[in-house]
Amino acid sequence: MEKKSKPPFYVTTPIYYVNDVPHIGHAYTTIIADALARFMKMNGREVFFLTGTDEHGQKVEKAAAEHGVDPKAWADRVVVRFFDLWKALDCEPDFFIRTTMELHEKGVQKLFQSLLAKGDIYKGEYKGWYCVSDENFLAEDIPLEKDGTKTCPDCGRKAQVVSEETYFFRLSAYQQRLLDHYRDHPQFVRPQSRMNEVTSFVRGGLKDLSITRTTVKWGVPVPGDPAHTIYVWFDALHNYLTGIGYDRDPELFAKFWPATVHLIGKDILRFHAVFWPAFLMASGLPLPDCVFGHGWWLKDEAKMSKSKGNVLDPSVLLKAMGPDPLRYFLLREIPIGLDGNFSHEGFIHRVNSDLANDLGNLVSRALTMIRNYFEGTIPAPGPEVPADAAIRTAFEETKERAVAQYEAYAVNKALEEIWAYITTVNKYLADNAPWKLHKDPALRPRLARVLRQAAGALRGTAALVAPVMPASAQKIWEYLGESGKVRDVRFDTLDFDAPGLGQSVRAPEPLFPRIDLKAFLADEPKTSKEIPMDEQKPTAPEAPVSAPAVPPAAPAPKTNLISYDEFARMELRVAHVLEAVKVEGAKKLLKLKIDLGTEQRQIVAGVAETYAPEQLVGKKFIVIANLQPAVIRGVESQGMLLAAVTGDKAAIPFFEADVPAGAKVK
Ligand SMILES: [Zn+2]
Repeated sequence: MEKKSKPPFYVTTPIYYVNDVPHIGHAYTTIIADALARFMKMNGREVFFLTGTDEHGQKVEKAAAEHGVDPKAWADRVVVRFFDLWKALDCEPDFFIRTTMELHEKGVQKLFQSLLAKGDIYKGEYKGWYCVSDENFLAEDIPLEKDGTKTCPDCGRKAQVVSEETYFFRLSAYQQRLLDHYRDHPQFVRPQSRMNEVTSFVRGGLKDLSITRTTVKWGVPVPGDPAHTIYVWFDALHNYLTGIGYDRDPELFAKFWPATVHLIGKDILRFHAVFWPAFLMASGLPLPDCVFGHGWWLKDEAKMSKSKGNVLDPSVLLKAMGPDPLRYFLLREIPIGLDGNFSHEGFIHRVNSDLANDLGNLVSRALTMIRNYFEGTIPAPGPEVPADAAIRTAFEETKERAVAQYEAYAVNKALEEIWAYITTVNKYLADNAPWKLHKDPALRPRLARVLRQAAGALRGTAALVAPVMPASAQKIWEYLGESGKVRDVRFDTLDFDAPGLGQSVRAPEPLFPRIDLKAFLADEPKTSKEIPMDEQKPTAPEAPVSAPAVPPAAPAPKTNLISYDEFARMELRVAHVLEAVKVEGAKKLLKLKIDLGTEQRQIVAGVAETYAPEQLVGKKFIVIANLQPAVIRGVESQGMLLAAVTGDKAAIPFFEADVPAGAKVK
C-alpha cells in the first residue's frame, strides 16, 4: 500500500510593529511557531514558517521625523532588534516579511484592485472621532463619555467628529458566510472559548470596514488614487499571502496556501477570525485551517525595576543561559491557549528541577559511566531482562504520545510525556545501580546492557526535545558521539536501538546551570504586572468588585494572616469621583474617572446595580492605588475601590469629613 504523504505545514506569527521594542510577548509567539515548525519538519512535513514586521503607519512616520530620517530608513534601523532577538532565541523563520518590501506592497495593491473591480471595495464617506493633535481617527470601540464626546486615548485631548472620503470593504456582505464557515469548521478558531467570542461578535452584525485613510501618508497608496493610503489591517493581514509567494511564486504559493495555523495574541482575534477570512472569501482564496489565539504572560514588575533584579529580562536571561531554558519554560508551563505567570519561582523550579536535575543529571551520569567503565564507547549489550525491554517499550509509547501532542499543538503535554519518560529512565538507573554492577567483573554483560539502554533512551529523548530545545538537544546528540544534526532525525524512523549506538561518547559539559533559589529570591516582592503578548493591551474577563483578574504570583501563604510589611505595601488613597458612566454591555460595571490628588485615573467598579452613575460623582472613597491595571470588558481599570459586597449589592464607605483627594489611608 502506498504511504500517504503528509500535508505541508505553514505557520505564521503576527507581523510585529517595527517601532516596538521586542519583549517577551513577541518572543513567546515566535518561540511557539519555531517549535512547531521544527517539530513538523522532524515529523516528515514540508514546513514554511513566516514572521515579520508591520512597518507602516503614523508611529513609524513620527519616530522617523523625530530622528531626522525618512520612515524607511527608520524601519531599517529598528527592524534589526527583531532579527537579533530571533537569532538569540534560536528562532529560524523561513522568511521574514517586512510590509515595506516591494513584493508585499505590489501584492496588496493587486488584491485591493481586484476587490475594487468586483465591488467588494467601494468609495464612501467615513465619519468618526478624530484627534486633531495626533491626526488620527480613534478606534471605534472607544466608548462615548457622559457629555457625548470621546477623548483620544493617546494624548488625552477631546476628539471631534470628522468625515473623510474613504474606501470601504463590504464586510457586511460576509456575515452569513462567516457564520457558516465557523459552523462547518469548529477548529477554525482555537481554543473553543475564542470561537464562541468570535461567533457572537459576528452574530451581532457586521458593518462595512473603512480600509483607507487620507490622513496617514506612510503606507501603501491606493492604486490610481494616491491621496488614499491603504490602512493597517488590509495592508498587514495580506502579508500571510505575499510572504508565501502570492502573485510572484505560484509553485510556493500553491504548496503552502492556505496556512495551517496563524498564531496570534488573543487581542487581535477579531482581525484574524473575522476580517481576514472575509478578505480571503472576497478574493476567492481558501481560508486558513486554524487561527490560534494564545494567552498572555504575567510578569513580576518590582523585580524588573530593581537594579540587580532584572535577571528575568529575556535579553539578560538569554545572555546568561542561552535560549533553551526560556524556550522550555514558556512552552512547558502552560497550554498555548491559556494565560501564564512568569514568576521567578516557576522559572527557577523548571530550570533546576526539570532541566538541571532530571535531564542534565541523566546525561552526565550516563555518559560519565560509559566513559569510566567502557573507555568512552557505548558497549555492545549483554542479554536483555524484562526491565530493559520495558525501558524500550516505554520509549516507543512516549514517542507516539509526544508526537500526537505536538501535532495537536499541545507542546506542554508533549513535554510532560517526555519528562515522565526521563523520570522512568532515572529510576531504571537507580534500580539497576550500574555503579554497583561495575564492582563485580562477572556482571559486566549486565552493566553493558544497562548503559546501552541508557544511551538509547538519551538518544531518543534528545530527538524528542529538539523542537523545543534545539541547542541542548544537539549537544546531547554530539556527546553521544552521533554525527550530523539531531534536527535531521525523522520521528517515524527514530528507533531506540539505533544502528549507530556503539560509537565513542564525548565528555559532557553541564547542560543547564543551576540557579540558587535563595540568592534569587532574597527580598523578593510578589507583585506582578501583566505584560501583553503583543503590542496590544490584554483583556481580562469581567471581574467582581473584590477580586483582581490576575492569578497569584506566589504560592498562597500557610496562614491567612498577613505581615505588617505586606499590609504596608498596599497603597490606599482617597479618591474623588470626577465622572461616572456605565460600561456598555456590562450591567454591573461603572467606569469612574477619579482624582488622586497628583493624577487622574480611570477605574472600573462592579457597583452599577447599587449606584447610579450620578450618585457617585463628587463622592470620596478609598481605592487601592497600586493595584496592577487590568482590562475589564475592554476598559482599563487602574485601581480598585473598596466596598462591602453582599450578593449583587455593594455598599461603598464614603468619607463624610472633608479630606483631600489623594490623602493616604492607613
Ligand atoms: Zn490624540
